[in-house]
Amino acid sequence: MTLVQKVMEAGVIGAGGAGFPTHVKLAGEVDTVIVNGAECEPLLYGDQSIMENRAGDIVAGLRRVTHSISEKRGAQVRSVIGVKGKYKAAITAFKSAIKPNENIEILELPNVYPAGDEQFLLFEATGRIVPEGGIPLMIGAMVMNVGTLAQVNEALNGRPVTSRLVTLGGAVEKPLIADIPIGTPFSEIVPKLGPKMDDYVFLINGPMMGRIGTDPAEVTTKTMGGLFILPKDHSHVRRLSRKLTTEIRLGKSACEVCRYCTDYCPRYLQGHAIEPHKIMRVINYDRDLDTKTITSAWLCCECGVCDLFACPMALSPRVFFREFKRKLKDAGIKNPHNRSELEPDQMRSMRGTPVSRLVTRLGLSEYDIRPELDPNPWSVSKVVIKLDTHIGAPAKPVVVIGAKVARGDLIGKIPEGSMGAIYHASITGTVTSVLEKSVTIERNGR
Ligand code: SF4
Ligand code: SF4
Repeated sequence: MTLVQKVMEAGVIGAGGAGFPTHVKLAGEVDTVIVNGAECEPLLYGDQSIMENRAGDIVAGLRRVTHSISEKRGAQVRSVIGVKGKYKAAITAFKSAIKPNENIEILELPNVYPAGDEQFLLFEATGRIVPEGGIPLMIGAMVMNVGTLAQVNEALNGRPVTSRLVTLGGAVEKPLIADIPIGTPFSEIVPKLGPKMDDYVFLINGPMMGRIGTDPAEVTTKTMGGLFILPKDHSHVRRLSRKLTTEIRLGKSACEVCRYCTDYCPRYLQGHAIEPHKIMRVINYDRDLDTKTITSAWLCCECGVCDLFACPMALSPRVFFREFKRKLKDAGIKNPHNRSELEPDQMRSMRGTPVSRLVTRLGLSEYDIRPELDPNPWSVSKVVIKLDTHIGAPAKPVVVIGAKVARGDLIGKIPEGSMGAIYHASITGTVTSVLEKSVTIERNGR
């Protein structure tokens, strides 16, 4: 079996958040592989933990990947590990995992948000800019998250993805970093953390790119790196929970058209044709009603810099871009922006968002504490494994109600002729529900 097949069979998808199927990425032809160890989303510590404790696995995975690509292209591939300079322990771990004669570079990144955005990282490592609406493979580069590479290494040793490290914190007695079976309901996690209040909500993934949830039946996924419990009346919760109608009303009454949102937008700074202040003029004054401003929504990566850091009036161009993106998708209008001859803005290197200021601005400093790593594997009574948490077609269930499964057994396969990902049982037990896009397994199910 080839490396690509083994990774596909193990169900590896991008652990950094987007969930792109890793076997599809690995089939690309590139001259540079960049390891993403930036972990820039505030409050998350899982990648730092993986780098410190499993640098050997990450480097082993990287070696196998670059060896396979180098063989295919007949020339050596450049390997760069991008890691924030402040992650000293991770850098030390990488330095001892890399052999003396090995050609693997370590690139120390500034402590800014979004240093972990693959387009930001790629520019830092190579000076190349991803075309508008494009992906790194289009300019001969591959960016892989540290967690994904550790999973690739597991895959090559025959172990599928059945769990992942999740940072668990917020207003709780016992924050943790824990290796949790995929599909664990939040209701099984909460008692282990001990919320400090009754009236709380969930912040899923992180404060910048994440979202607020209230349902304890929600479950962890292959792409979920953080779960935080926050008081329901916390300012950041209220901010992320605002209705679209409220955003429109606030935008109309408070936008000064100062264009700070544009000046700090990471995509604008890369030279892409996106100017968030113009979407505000569309909403507020029916100005700039040209197609370009509307379709520039496709170029927004929803990083949150414009609304959660740059805007002095706490307005949200991001929400409007998200809404336009949804409407364009519904109308079947694809991204028309594809310029590839791009120049970064001359202020780019000075406009990264300092993470400590960002955390203060979000009102989350008291929760920005690195939790202990739970050394014990978690035993949960039930998992609901979603089969559509990757980019591509949802996986097709291959089990029936009542089937006995062991951890690691195949439960969902890629539909014929589609791009997708495979899913495995994350606990040993009995299948108690099979829906189009999920499989439930109970440890003591009948
Ligand atoms: S930063 Fe805020 S106030 Fe200024 S243009 Fe953008 S949305 Fe309007
Ligand atoms: S969320 Fe805002 S800052 Fe981020 S890419 Fe979109 S418009 Fe730019």
